Amino acid sequence: MIVMEKAPAKINLSLDVLHKRDDGYHDVEMVMTTIDLSDRIELQQLPKDEIQVALESRYVPSDERNLAYQAAKLFKNTYQIPYGVRIHIEKNIPVSAGLAGGSTDAAAVLRGLNRLFHVNAPLKDLATLGSNLGADVAFCVYGKTAIAKGFGDQIELLPSPPNCWVITARPDIGVSTRTIFERINLQNLHHPDTKKVLEALQQRDFYQICMSLGNALEDITFAIHPEVFRIKNAMLQAGADGAIMSGSGPTVFGLVQHFSKAQRIYNSMRGFCEDVQLVRILG
Ligand code: ATP
Repeated sequence: MIVMEKAPAKINLSLDVLHKRDDGYHDVEMVMTTIDLSDRIELQQLPKDEIQVALESRYVPSDERNLAYQAAKLFKNTYQIPYGVRIHIEKNIPVSAGLAGGSTDAAAVLRGLNRLFHVNAPLKDLATLGSNLGADVAFCVYGKTAIAKGFGDQIELLPSPPNCWVITARPDIGVSTRTIFERINLQNLHHPDTKKVLEALQQRDFYQICMSLGNALEDITFAIHPEVFRIKNAMLQAGADGAIMSGSGPTVFGLVQHFSKAQRIYNSMRGFCEDVQLVRILG
């Protein structure tokens, strides 16, 4: 039997860093939603107790360093599954892009194995399990739209944004989340107004959502990679209703309500940087 799982990318409508904990992690507050840019995960049961990962990517290892592998190992150990699994990943989400590509693969493996081996664990349990693998995995287990607190492990679901179009644009560089977090100086951060984002979502007010987008990590990434700043400006100049960097970057996304305008901005951004996509919000 083969089980297929869609593994969609996330974008941050807001990202705030509150303080540094004694264990070295930062407490964050992130409002995230899911977009229709997805990896495709195929899971197949193997008779022997082993984990195989198959993917074609220059940037992602297929051994135990792969988050999908780690998710399978954790799931098998937790639920005492005596069989093996082959994981095939069709990688469409750019790597180290601020779109949680690795976390969403891990989350999809947890959901998929839950079905493949008829474990029927609730999503809440899978999210708790996933938070051992990385800060965004718990959110990705649910997908949808949510606020993540703590180090990303505490999830509260939110109403999804009204229908709109998302243009993602990124330069051909990867940004290490760890490098950006290491440079945080809590005194200098521009904190987003998370309350405003939450209110805008509750009211399903597209323009208020656009007005309240905010990311406390932007200044740090902009200082290291000024091209990300230029992409954000280009997105706004091209007419996006709102634009912001996702995660620790380098992907910038723009929100647009009407398709014809979204297409114009997509074409305009394609003349400006390497990788541009026009997708819908799934949230
Ligand atoms: P986030 O937005 O959660 O910070 P990101 O989009 O910036 O994540 P990822 O694409 O998840 O970054 O990749 C970060 C690192 O994780 C890379 O070094 C990559 O090699 C590693 N990695 C491990 N497994 C995977 C996977 N299945 N897909 C992508 N990257 C993976």
